[in-house]
Amino acid sequence: MARYVDAVCKLCRREGVKLFLKGDRCYTPKCGVERRPAPPGMQSTRRRKVSEYSVQLREKQKARHTYGVLERQFRRHFAEADRRPGQTGENLLRILEMRLDNVVYRLGFADSRAQARQLVTHGHITLNGHKTDIPSALVAVGDVIGIRESSRAMDHFKTALEQIGRRAIPAWLSVNVEEAGARVLTTPQRSEIDTSLQEQLIVEFYSR
Ligand code: SF4
Repeated sequence: MARYVDAVCKLCRREGVKLFLKGDRCYTPKCGVERRPAPPGMQSTRRRKVSEYSVQLREKQKARHTYGVLERQFRRHFAEADRRPGQTGENLLRILEMRLDNVVYRLGFADSRAQARQLVTHGHITLNGHKTDIPSALVAVGDVIGIRESSRAMDHFKTALEQIGRRAIPAWLSVNVEEAGARVLTTPQRSEIDTSLQEQLIVEFYSR
């Protein structure tokens, strides 16, 4: 399964914003953006004109890196968003939010989406009672996400369950600490998706 393996802080520095890819470290002074705010690589003193295309491209890359999705899969998500009724940009964010790895992260079972992805691929997560190791699986309203019974004794999950609520859990998800699980209550509305991404720019990028 292909995934990005280079230093992730470079991605934030390239975009010039914190993408919160490293869990707790992102909230400390050790954060790469805070220590070295300039883009990675050789620095040019020449001022470059920023084109419309470049703004759209950067927004698309920001979304991809935030959710940890490679280009081909991102395009697939976009095509699906375009097929659905309603605004394509909002549909795209909804699809990204409803990926299983993102849901595991949003619930607080993982510190970052990368860690959530690993927990899923290692088979620690169940979807409607069945082990699911596909991070891109999309959850639906009524689905139940859980921690596999044999994995609940792991220190990672014990700590995660103790600290549930440390990060705000979106209103479209309901977590049950006793049962080490959660339920999808509704599809998320745009206002419930905690992101500064400008989805319209991504739509413009793919509509060129
Ligand atoms: Fe980005 Fe987090 Fe690295 Fe800061 S610590 S640069 S927010 S991944």
